[in-house]
Amino acid sequence: MVKIKREALELALGASKNTYPDEFIALLRDNDEKTITHILVLPRSTYGKGFSSVDFNMLPMFSHSCGSFHSHPVPNPRPSRGDRLFFAKLGDVHLIAGYPYGERDVRAYDREGKEIPLEILD
Ligand SMILES: [Zn+2]
Repeated sequence: MVKIKREALELALGASKNTYPDEFIALLRDNDEKTITHILVLPRSTYGKGFSSVDFNMLPMFSHSCGSFHSHPVPNPRPSRGDRLFFAKLGDVHLIAGYPYGERDVRAYDREGKEIPLEILD
């Protein structure tokens, strides 16, 4: 089970809409209760069609990150093979939002790309 604050999720979904049709990518930060509270947008991230990447040189600044969020420009929030490789490097919890980026278009995965339940907290 992954828990995320609604305001953090809304911010990520809004950024996904703004970045469409490119992919938006960010890191996630959680609190002591393992609830995701913040979205960390990385400087110099690359947003692209069908790909997005993080500048790993920037990661030490964000060592408290617990995982990642990224958007897909299609209504399919399933992780690609590239996503799975990226998941293993970047933490335990990974969210993918499919177009059109409503709350119901978001799925959560563990580092192996297995879907896990997502709970949105107010
Ligand atoms: Zn992806």
